[in-house]
Amino acid sequence: MTSDYMPAWQADGLCAGRPDLMADPHQAEATCHRCPVLPECRDWVLSLPVHEGPDGVVAAMTLAERERVVLDREPPRQCDTCLEIRPLWAYAQNTEGKPSRRKTCRTCVDRRTHTNRARHETAPPQT
Ligand code: SF4
Ligand SMILES: [Zn+2]
Repeated sequence: MTSDYMPAWQADGLCAGRPDLMADPHQAEATCHRCPVLPECRDWVLSLPVHEGPDGVVAAMTLAERERVVLDREPPRQCDTCLEIRPLWAYAQNTEGKPSRRKTCRTCVDRRTHTNRARHETAPPQT
């Protein structure tokens, strides 16, 4: 892992100076599990805003896995369509790479997309 955010214990990480070990996600995860600073690395990476942290596997977690852990700490939100209270990760981002989330859950968005597609497919041809 290389990042401007890395603190002092970086030098003890198995990935220090070895980007080759982190290129493949499976190998990177195995490397992290053998790493002597895994607990420090995990605490550090989970303290960062997800979208400002490094890409790829860090502390044996992919970006998506880290995002889920971080979002699970946030209060849940009520969907404006189904009114279910759902964790923040159940809502898509407003814009790729931005932390804000949609007000409608992914399930409702998917359902709406399916319904619209089915309606479109069964609609009589336009004359
Ligand atoms: S836990 Fe993984 S990402 Fe963190 S320092 Fe160790 S090898 Fe690098
Ligand atoms: Zn919903």
